[in-house]
Amino acid sequence: MALGSLEIGIVGCGIAGQAAASFLADAGHVVTLLERFEQPQAVGAGLLLQPTGLSVLRALGLQPEAIAAGARIDGILGENQWSVRVIDLDYGDLHPAAFALGIGRPPLFDLLHRRVLAAGARLVTGVEIVDVEREGARAVALDRKARRHGPFDLLVVADGTNSSLRQRVFPRARAPVYPWGCIWATVPDIRAFGAQGLLRQRFFGTTAMLGVLPVAFDRLTLFWSLPTPELQADRPLDLEAMRRKAVALWPDVAPIVERAVAACAFTRATYRHVSLPRWSDGPILFIGDAAHGTSPQLGQGANLGLLDAHALGRSLADAADVPQALERFAARRGPSNRFYGTASHLLTPFFQSHHDLLAIPRDLLLHRACVTPPVRRVLAGALAGLRRGWWSADSLDADGRYPL
Ligand SMILES: Cc1cc2nc3c(=O)[nH]c(=O)nc-3n(C[C@H](O)[C@H](O)[C@H](O)COP(=O)(O)OP(=O)(O)OC[C@H]3O[C@@H](n4cnc5c(N)ncnc54)[C@H](O)[C@@H]3O)c2cc1C
Repeated sequence: MALGSLEIGIVGCGIAGQAAASFLADAGHVVTLLERFEQPQAVGAGLLLQPTGLSVLRALGLQPEAIAAGARIDGILGENQWSVRVIDLDYGDLHPAAFALGIGRPPLFDLLHRRVLAAGARLVTGVEIVDVEREGARAVALDRKARRHGPFDLLVVADGTNSSLRQRVFPRARAPVYPWGCIWATVPDIRAFGAQGLLRQRFFGTTAMLGVLPVAFDRLTLFWSLPTPELQADRPLDLEAMRRKAVALWPDVAPIVERAVAACAFTRATYRHVSLPRWSDGPILFIGDAAHGTSPQLGQGANLGLLDAHALGRSLADAADVPQALERFAARRGPSNRFYGTASHLLTPFFQSHHDLLAIPRDLLLHRACVTPPVRRVLAGALAGLRRGWWSADSLDADGRYPL
């Protein structure tokens, strides 16, 4: 027997929260989104939407607008300081029609925001949720001013990588900050990088990395790797040192870096490696970065959050009650979320760490893997978000899309 209409609370009006609210409101549930900002807004760097995330946007009816707002990405090219190709992967190896999309956060946020409001979810802003309480089988969210929201039949926590509810619900949850993060800036693409259709990176050992991601036909996001202590808010950024190193590492990008530095356009970002003992506790479910945040090395975080949102909608649609829906959610999303969390964690020191020697096996092995067709295909599948675990993976459908 299918579930009737539920009262559902969602904490966090970000990528995962808004996508989940849209699917659940579409299905006839009464959805309340609780967001700490007075004015919900896009926070963060431009990002790469994989074929997986694009399929979720398609299910929400947003894919054409997203494609119009973003930049098509056909592959990823990473070179070391001697211009030797370290990573060279192409979505076309999976299917001729497959591609990813670079997109700025503001346009992605606007699309999701309009969608969630159109779906009829109720948005409550200016409420920072700091605790949850159980009332029998239901859950109540408590905000910083001690106001109570709910009770809800299901409370979905999508409050991002710095989730304040994670430790309240799962005292054994772990979310250490990575020793390295980055600064990023979204700037005009004055060297027409977008025309190449590539996410490009340049590495010097493991201590310098410059990334260029086209996010619109005329804009790109620059990423520059830095140790986390240098990213602390009270410490001034040494943009001049960054400019010197970046320009020496990758002269082609120099005019873009110079302009971004002159405009002081950079913002700091750190990442956490989140692990929960399980995805839910009673009627409280964690999704997105709150549940499985990781470093952006494999470009998966937002995609995993979108897939969580879709899987939650499906699980509520085909279960008899909330506990069964949450079990089905865990079965659908657990393996892939765990794989990408672990794989990102293992890979990160090879790209961002003080262990420069790790660059030697990285450059040798990845280069070899990328020129060996069967391995290259497996790596392209991992990048596209297709892996379900170390030993299993999904395939794209006959049209080159990820089948949800
Ligand atoms: C530099 C960088 C580059 C990245 N690049 C990529 C990429 O290329 N591809 C990719 O897929 N992913 C990428 N990611 C990861 C991606 O940004 C995240 O995985 C994604 O934003 C997570 O979405 P979310 O909805 O879980 O959380 P968020 O988008 O962080 O949303 C959380 C929401 O919850 C709200 N909130 C927080 N606390 C509370 C509270 N207590 N009460 C109420 N509301 C609250 C916040 O205001 C926010 O609106 C990158 C991350 C970084 C840092």
